[in-house]
Amino acid sequence: MKILSINAGSSSLKFSLFNMKDESVIASGLFERIGIDGAYKIKFNGKEYKENVPLKTHVDAVNILLEKLISLNIVKSLDEIEGVGHRVVQGKDVFDRSVIVDDEVMQKLESIKHFAPLHNPANMHGIEAFMKALPNVPNIVVFDTAFHQTMEKETFLYPVPYEWYEKYGIRKYGAHGTSHRYITETLTEMLNMDKFKLISCHIGNGASITAVKDGKCVDTSMGFTPLAGVMMGTRSGDIDPSLLPPVMEAENKNINDIINDLNKHSGILGLSGISSDMRDLEAACKKGNERAILTMKKYVRRITDYIAQYYVLLGGADVIAFTAGVGENSSSVRKMVCDNLVSLGIKIDEKQNNVHGKTALISTPDSKIKVYVIPTDEELMIARDTLELIK
Ligand code: ADP
Repeated sequence: MKILSINAGSSSLKFSLFNMKDESVIASGLFERIGIDGAYKIKFNGKEYKENVPLKTHVDAVNILLEKLISLNIVKSLDEIEGVGHRVVQGKDVFDRSVIVDDEVMQKLESIKHFAPLHNPANMHGIEAFMKALPNVPNIVVFDTAFHQTMEKETFLYPVPYEWYEKYGIRKYGAHGTSHRYITETLTEMLNMDKFKLISCHIGNGASITAVKDGKCVDTSMGFTPLAGVMMGTRSGDIDPSLLPPVMEAENKNINDIINDLNKHSGILGLSGISSDMRDLEAACKKGNERAILTMKKYVRRITDYIAQYYVLLGGADVIAFTAGVGENSSSVRKMVCDNLVSLGIKIDEKQNNVHGKTALISTPDSKIKVYVIPTDEELMIARDTLELIK
């Protein structure tokens, strides 16, 4: 049983081909610069195959991908592919779970695509390309927002005129839902429990924190868009919107320019002036760079604030889990966050915390909250949903 997991961006298409018997990745790769010139990289059997090829559209990328699956002997026949799962960024309140694509689903996707204008149309191009190339293979859509649809109204509403919600759909939708669900399901299996209070910290370049009770999302830090919540690599996270007009006026910027600044030039990059990459920030902190140290303090503080908020919301916590690039790899960020939370009875085992990209329990036996590092796997989650739905 082979399943393709697809993440289509505006000029790229990432894929992983899974063997669902043992959930192993048979091959993976990236088609990029679609609509510009075009190139691909495919990893298979320990080798990387690279080539520059013209890619006018996503349809070209999918056709070349399928041709390469055969010519590199990754599959003998395309009939081996039994389903294709697609990541979709925004499902609004229209989709609260993954679904098989049909005409009605495509119409619904069309009706909500302006809520993620940079992402959803690209995701749809990916789906349409596979519908054309493999017309008999089912396509499944998996939404970044679906896991967060269990939030209550008092949680997802903003304290703004109610008509904005009714007329324009202004509310919190969240993101990284597939990752937070993966962490929740992994812990459910690992702990052999389905009723527990979890604070899931997906801290990569983008970052979000989610409060989960008995397997369901109760609250999450990202909002109407992924700009909200904790401080990130280049995104500000929560700010006071009243700071925008004076900057716009002084720098002669319009609203799109300034939102771009908050998305692309803020966070670690903006505050440190060094880099958006945690490894660079850590290196600068080690050298004693004052702005780097200030940036790190602010970054850790924002994460701590959200964990503390969710601890209270959940009425305590059984598990805190760290995942994604920073969460899986940075022992120092994990330690600083947990040290800030010492009043909750959290204790970290320094030796265990020295883990990179591997599942590990990093709290001591007498810690009041278990703290885990769990590598996320959104592609596998997409493949699992696909398998489940086509069964
Ligand atoms: P994205 O949101 O783009 O998927 P990732 O989850 O890949 O991001 O996370 C990227 C972040 O992870 C970067 O800030 C990077 O510096 C950080 N990171 C990766 N490896 C390490 C490491 N060994 N130590 C500290 N930070 C790391």
